[in-house]
Amino acid sequence: MKEVILLKYGEMVLKGLNKNYFNSLLIKRVRNLLKEADGNFTLDYSQSTLCIRGDENADMDKAYSLMKKVFGVSTICRGIECEKDMAAIKKALIEHGDRFLMGAKTFKCTAKRSDKRFPLNSMQICAECGEIILENFDGVSVDVNDPEVNITIEIRDRAAFIHGGGEKGACGMPVGSNGKALLLLSGGIDSPVAGYMVAKRGVFVDAVYFESPPYTSEAAKEKVISLAKKIGEYTGRIYLHFVSVTEIQQAIMDNCEEKLFTLLLRRFMMRIAERIADEIHAGALVTGESIGQVASQTMMALNVTDSVVNMPVFRPCIGLDKDEIVTRARSIGTFEISSLPYDDCCSLFTPKHPNTRPTEDLLIEAEKKLDVEGLIERALAGRTYIKIE
Ligand code: ATP
Ligand code: MG
Repeated sequence: MKEVILLKYGEMVLKGLNKNYFNSLLIKRVRNLLKEADGNFTLDYSQSTLCIRGDENADMDKAYSLMKKVFGVSTICRGIECEKDMAAIKKALIEHGDRFLMGAKTFKCTAKRSDKRFPLNSMQICAECGEIILENFDGVSVDVNDPEVNITIEIRDRAAFIHGGGEKGACGMPVGSNGKALLLLSGGIDSPVAGYMVAKRGVFVDAVYFESPPYTSEAAKEKVISLAKKIGEYTGRIYLHFVSVTEIQQAIMDNCEEKLFTLLLRRFMMRIAERIADEIHAGALVTGESIGQVASQTMMALNVTDSVVNMPVFRPCIGLDKDEIVTRARSIGTFEISSLPYDDCCSLFTPKHPNTRPTEDLLIEAEKKLDVEGLIERALAGRTYIKIE
């Protein structure tokens, strides 16, 4: 009898020929994460489930919590592995029933019998196991319709597993299975959520942060580093690029109409991001915009922001309300960091009466007064980056 962690695969089980590839990425990710927990672990994949076993020094609590950050996993279960016979299963239930019940008053048993040679059918397994629990644990009763706990007995090819039903995993697709994208990461609430959502679909996300020293502070930069780290916790690593837009903002303020300030700056950001993306072989840009949230996010404004780049721009928050974005930010742990009160380069530069219905011609006309290419080149020449693992 041994404690195990079971990772149930999500939609990647639907992948046909590529399944082995997706599986190898997921296993690589799990192995890397398990390095953070004490002990040695072995992994064993079969029937859309990855079974994690630890040695006698293994910190299974830590291993379990690390597994919540693995994209591609729909459910994580902590359970017991035992021999495939009813005597061993019943013994495991008596010894470990408390752990599965977790104080619940009602339960039901579910049997999954993928080994069809097992002598009892699912109904019989449930009946016998239910009876054992009722006999050995006081104050619990069976509720088949709405139980607090669903004690699950899985009869698999090599062993039986018993667990309390499991917890939702990070879902999505294994990281690295869908290429790389570059996130425009500000210190705000939305862009970290956007980055997380794209990463969840199996995309490696690197990020670029535009700063305007001395107007934006070191603290603002540290905040963005903390946000990038949060995304990196899910993907294993993230490169964060820093580009100063101080000279660009100065040139815009000196030469252009105030109502176009934000849009002109956004177009510079997109152009610079596209060049970095090309260099790092990223296939798309990602931003945290949502239709109509602010003046620079009207449909026309988004159009003139996009029109300066040739690669796809993903905006996963586009149809989310602010409170929905906040809920997600809380659940991934970025909300508290984003709420720290440091200035962003855009907030120092917001026009009083922004143009919400800009046309491409208007912006092209305004940019004629600027040395667009020179400004971009100088900004890129000063770029720095860090790797967060
Ligand atoms: P966020 O909460 O993500 O900052 P926001 O609602 O404040 O979004 P804007 O400030 O208009 O919106 O920015 C729109 C998007 O542009 C951001 O989601 C982000 O992707 C990108 N962006 C804005 N400022 C920066 C910056 N300083 N560095 C990198 N990207 C930025
Ligand atoms: Mg912002």
